Amino acid sequence: MKQATIAIVGGGANGVATFLHLVLKLVAEPLEQQVKLVLLEKNSDFGPGLAYGTQQRGHLLNTPAGLMGIFAEERMHFVEWLQENSTMVKEQFPEAEIHAYAYLPRCLYGTYLKEQLDAYRQLARRHNLEVALLKEEATDATVTDDKVTLVLKSGARLEADIAILATGTPKPNNFPHLNHSPHYFDFPWPSGKLLQNIPKEAPVALLGTSLTAIDTVITLMDNGHTGHLTLYSRHGLLPRIQTPFDVPFERKHLTLENIRKLMREEKRELRTKDLFRLFRQDAERVMGPQNNWKAFNRTDKPHQELLQHDFTVALAGKSVFQKLAVSTRYLSFPVWKLLTADEKVHFLKWFGPHWDINRHSMPITNAHKILALLQKGQLTIKGGSSEVNWEEGEERFLLHLADGTIEKSPFLINATGTAKDVEKMDIPLLQNLLRNKFLQPHPAGGVFANPDSLRLYVPAQPKAPLYGVGQLLVGELFDTNAVWFNVACIDQMTNHILRSLKYGYSA
Ligand SMILES: Cc1cc2nc3c(=O)[nH]c(=O)nc-3n(C[C@H](O)[C@H](O)[C@H](O)COP(=O)(O)OP(=O)(O)OC[C@H]3O[C@@H](n4cnc5c(N)ncnc54)[C@H](O)[C@@H]3O)c2cc1C
Repeated sequence: MKQATIAIVGGGANGVATFLHLVLKLVAEPLEQQVKLVLLEKNSDFGPGLAYGTQQRGHLLNTPAGLMGIFAEERMHFVEWLQENSTMVKEQFPEAEIHAYAYLPRCLYGTYLKEQLDAYRQLARRHNLEVALLKEEATDATVTDDKVTLVLKSGARLEADIAILATGTPKPNNFPHLNHSPHYFDFPWPSGKLLQNIPKEAPVALLGTSLTAIDTVITLMDNGHTGHLTLYSRHGLLPRIQTPFDVPFERKHLTLENIRKLMREEKRELRTKDLFRLFRQDAERVMGPQNNWKAFNRTDKPHQELLQHDFTVALAGKSVFQKLAVSTRYLSFPVWKLLTADEKVHFLKWFGPHWDINRHSMPITNAHKILALLQKGQLTIKGGSSEVNWEEGEERFLLHLADGTIEKSPFLINATGTAKDVEKMDIPLLQNLLRNKFLQPHPAGGVFANPDSLRLYVPAQPKAPLYGVGQLLVGELFDTNAVWFNVACIDQMTNHILRSLKYGYSA
């Protein structure tokens, strides 16, 4: 009997979700041919990946537990697992609460992923599905119209009928000129072990002011850091604070129906400014007419005051922009697909940072810690960051600000978050695929792909059986930083893969 090999490169949340969905569907509806599933992970742990591999309990999920189920549509599955394992959770994480709106330690979620992987490996075995978990890094690949041959770091090769790149949330190579500077930390993950090498009383500069930078500050504080911390970014915007309960927001203007109607009536493509206009109309329905929208721009405003204001509105469930942004959870992908590649880029440049601080806000526990640090003067946040260099003679990093001032720091952490541009993703496999024209960079980040099937566009081999999930498709999919969304995409992708194996078609 013919055998089909499906290779999944990357054993983090997305690789695991792909594996679980394939097993589940193959058990429910076996194919005529024998299927072999191979999951490759370069690190020793299969399951948690980079995102949930941290052992630091202060690292919290930035999504409520009720959205973290690893099975499509079953968003409460993680909460159900917590309830089933409540004795273990109470013993090991006494501070953890079990409910849909809890923000739990990321390592607890890593344990959940490992357990699901184990359970589905056993299920596969009981149904005679061949499964192999290889602790290997795929470093290169050749792609033809009907095969992907992965080259592994050990020198071995793996021939796959279908390959899925679940390579994850890679570290960015966005300051290559600093790579050889001593005291430069190019990524705060996994788990900040390296950061423990920073003397506790030393002043430290961090590049970035988003959730990654907040996480890094928490890591340093958990390590007992007492020195001054300064966060630098171009805009200096801090994420807002998450409202710790559900606050529905009824949109009347920013709806798919209105957007489609606009495109039909005006016979033109959707533009970012259309979205902003609809957003504004919905916000003004609640806030009343506003004659100066520029006043809402938070750049250059005092962070302590902003944070205190954010506490008040978050706890009262009255943060209008945030509620509106969060209410687009299930709208943003269909709308994103309607934007042309140029408009996607325009959205990210013009609106992106303001969207991010509302849509991707920080858990309230972290916000308390950040406010306390600001109040005692141990933390400063600076916008207008333009350039950073290592000054050999002074043994200091020089941080240039837009107003012409230059600040100095003996230690520097790149906390700008994971790479968006595929060229800056520090993963040899991706760089080799790019070099050989097996991937096509998307101007909004990641690579070109079919956004429904997740099949990658391979310029040199248009029928190639190569798929991708997660951050690699950020320009096509937009919301790849959420488990529930990735899982929904994986559900579609695995349907497509199994149908193509069953009926032999490719799309
Ligand atoms: C720190 C952090 C926290 C997050 N918190 C949340 C959250 O609370 N809620 C939420 O919904 N989303 C969160 N996300 C978003 C997250 O990106 C996705 O939700 C999803 O979990 C990412 O899973 P992944 O498997 O794609 O990535 P990763 O976790 O990065 O896993 C990818 C894995 O692939 C392996 N790998 C990469 N290349 C190769 C190769 N060539 N060969 C073999 N193995 C390889 C890596 O070693 C890694 O283990 C977070 C992301 C990060 C980075």
